[in-house]
Amino acid sequence: MRVLLGLGGNTGEVRRAFARALGELGAWPGVDRVVGASALYRTRAVGPEQPDFLNMAALVVVSGSLLGFLELCQELERGAGRDRGGESRWGPRPLDLDLLLAEEAVHRGPRLTLPHSHFHERAFALVPAAELVPGWSHPLLGRTVGELAAEALARDPGAVERAARPDHP
Ligand code: ATP
Ligand code: MG
Ligand code: MG
Repeated sequence: MRVLLGLGGNTGEVRRAFARALGELGAWPGVDRVVGASALYRTRAVGPEQPDFLNMAALVVVSGSLLGFLELCQELERGAGRDRGGESRWGPRPLDLDLLLAEEAVHRGPRLTLPHSHFHERAFALVPAAELVPGWSHPLLGRTVGELAAEALARDPGAVERAARPDHP
């Protein structure tokens, strides 16, 4: 099963946290490999007033269970210093790993909702995702990731921009 993963963060060394998370994901037995990674984007934060986020998307081939993969993602978040108990909703965090889509899977459980319940409306998740899987269809909306990304950008053109490379500020 190919899983579209959204990565975000706005405290600490976010680029390093992304690189480390992708490396560790790829080494987990339930993951075959990471088959794609988008560019990095600087995005305006949703929620409380706080610094901009960096976001990107990755495409991961998962052979184990999706709940197991979610647990791995949460472990990697903790490894990056995230303390879910001590943070406010949508507040600053070093690393957020969200399962955005898993091909055509639709799932509603206490711990995992697929597609991610906000994916279709968030430019910061859709724009990086559209680099990797523009033609994937949102199984509940019947719209492609590319279409949804274009709509989200049209609603709020300033929300997302390509991040400058760290060596070219
Ligand atoms: P949002 O989900 O709006 O992006 P968030 O990423 O800040 O907010 P978290 O604190 O990271 O939220 O996660 C809250 C809960 O969401 C987790 O305990 C997790 O079990 C649940 N969850 C449900 N569906 C998903 C999903 N598709 N990807 C990641 N977490 C999910
Ligand atoms: Mg999130
Ligand atoms: Mg999350």
